[in-house]
Amino acid sequence: MSVCLETSEAHLFGSEMHHLISSLYPICRSITGDGVRKTLHILQQLIPLQIYEVPTGTPVFDWTVPKEWNVRDAYVKNCLGEKIIDFQASNLHLLNYSTPIHQTMPLSELKAHLFTLPEHPEWVPYRTSYYKENWGFCLSHNTLQSLEDGEYEVYIDSSLEDGHLTYGEYYLAGETDDEVLFSCHICHPSLCNDNLSGIALATFLANHLSSLTRRYSYRFLFIPGTIGSITWLCLNANQTHRIKHGLVVSGVGDAGKMTYKKSRKGDAEIDRIVAHVLKYSSHPYALEDFSPYGYDERQYCSPGFNLPVGRLTRTPFGQYPEYHTSADNLDFVKPAYLADSWMTYLAIIEILEQNRRYANTNPQCEPQLGKRGLYEAFGGKQDKKDSEMAMLWVLNLSDRNHTLLNIAERAGMKFQVIRNAAVALLNAGLLQEC
Ligand code: ZN
Repeated sequence: MSVCLETSEAHLFGSEMHHLISSLYPICRSITGDGVRKTLHILQQLIPLQIYEVPTGTPVFDWTVPKEWNVRDAYVKNCLGEKIIDFQASNLHLLNYSTPIHQTMPLSELKAHLFTLPEHPEWVPYRTSYYKENWGFCLSHNTLQSLEDGEYEVYIDSSLEDGHLTYGEYYLAGETDDEVLFSCHICHPSLCNDNLSGIALATFLANHLSSLTRRYSYRFLFIPGTIGSITWLCLNANQTHRIKHGLVVSGVGDAGKMTYKKSRKGDAEIDRIVAHVLKYSSHPYALEDFSPYGYDERQYCSPGFNLPVGRLTRTPFGQYPEYHTSADNLDFVKPAYLADSWMTYLAIIEILEQNRRYANTNPQCEPQLGKRGLYEAFGGKQDKKDSEMAMLWVLNLSDRNHTLLNIAERAGMKFQVIRNAAVALLNAGLLQEC
């Protein structure tokens, strides 16, 4: 298959992804609850994903599916009855997973439940308390400093009850059962780069791949961070051996350079493909070794699974000031960066699909390329020279043991040049597929 697109087409996709992000932005998501369901229902308008509901209390390895959290309203009012913090204005104002409360209290008592970012006094931080019952509000430091002593009415109309953990899954069968996994987290409320950009990219990739012939099968997971991947791995432990390559998709809409965090294996095919694509991308990039911290690659790469799953983002989480704040908004993610990430992911998928092994049918001394018209098969002078070298490399290393990527790495040439040479040699009967 050919998965790559023209740049102009990519920009259109960048705008459409940004549009999807805008529609998901107002929803109050968490690791459970109706915000996740609403998000998945919107994605179902683009891809026919399956929605799964796992009951509260289900044991998943060393963890337990938590109670389901939902929120209808929350605010803090001053003694004049004015809402000085309002969940309806931004869902970031509420500590995610806050328990219900309706009480009047002095500022001194309220302050123990208020969270701000003094270093960015205009921004509202994003905070959670999933596994320890608590309530609280997040606000700008400027607002906090403007609060006068006195009584405040605190109201949180939320519920924390037995329910479900909800996740979405979309499986696209290919020619083989071998799978490529794309996983993104869907548990953050109004945050664009961290969570929504990955959701948008994964959705558009799934939609795009659905219309192509595929050598691999593809599985897209839309899951709450940590507890979602633990739950999915627990429920699907007997079929994870099919996952041959995987990427955790997130943080793909900011201005930073592409950053790849390798799988725990470090030299898996996906690790080498991503490194190859980034090397030839003509943009700055960074490669990081695996570490047991981060997004859901932590679970996929836990030693009991050790799946070949890396993480491909732009600026890694925590390394930009807007991370987990109200500044990770619709202006922070841009269509052009989403488009660039999209092109990078497609280039990776293209190599995954095309990275095959061949056998040279004329391995005893070099075959004559001229009499088969192979010197004329390629365009300009430099192209001809590169193609000739590429053909020699492919013929020499096509001994059933080397993939086209192995050959490209050894030759120091771009995968597509090696691949084009292989296609020409295949058409001339000098190669056969293994
Ligand atoms: Zn996050």
